[in-house]
Amino acid sequence: MSFFGGSPIFSGSIEVVCGPMFSGKTEELIRRVKRAQIARQKVQIFKPAIDNRYHETEVVSHSSLSIEATPVNSSVEILQKVFDSTRVVAIDEVQFFDENITVVVEKLARRGVRVIMAGLDQDFKGVPFGPMASLLAIADSVDKIHAICTLCGAPATKTFRKNPKNSEQVLVGETDLYEARCRSHADFFGEDQDQLAFFVNLNSASDKSQNL
Ligand code: ADP
Ligand code: MG
Repeated sequence: MSFFGGSPIFSGSIEVVCGPMFSGKTEELIRRVKRAQIARQKVQIFKPAIDNRYHETEVVSHSSLSIEATPVNSSVEILQKVFDSTRVVAIDEVQFFDENITVVVEKLARRGVRVIMAGLDQDFKGVPFGPMASLLAIADSVDKIHAICTLCGAPATKTFRKNPKNSEQVLVGETDLYEARCRSHADFFGEDQDQLAFFVNLNSASDKSQNL
């Protein structure tokens, strides 16, 4: 917050907390929300409706912390549901949203809102998840946090899918399907081919734009 001519001006901001599953992203989101509430700021919390693992209308951490949240089906719905009086908007599992989420959070920040997001930076193949690469780029602050590798106890930056034969990117699950792994124990299905395909696609897209 800054002051101009005696009246307070709320400066908006964009914060991202990212990392693999079980790294404490939701715990950190809830911690920041609770501190804002202690400061008597009006907070609204959103989550994608697709994530109903624990609860339809609550954000719940793996350590059973929870907070009320509004489930939404698209990023534009967030914009429609934010009140003028809201100072802080928190969004969990932000990787599940469409690319418009970057426009939505930029708009909110321009209106003076503090936007706090938590999401998986990578999918189970180690590829940037949905809009996360763009969100990390436009954020004012990024915290990349680690889980603990279930095999060796080292800091884990990857989410390992126990049955990689299920190859769709979005497969909502818990410890039944996923575990946290360090880089050396991630051993992605198909080795590095999927990551390579992702970067080859990126390069061919930028080659094309240079030809324009
Ligand atoms: P995220 O939102 O990143 O998936 P949560 O905030 O929901 O993570 O849960 C973090 C909690 O998960 C930790 O405080 C810990 O109690 C628990 N946990 C379970 N497995 C692991 C693991 N492999 N590494 C770290 N924490 C774990
Ligand atoms: Mg979480």
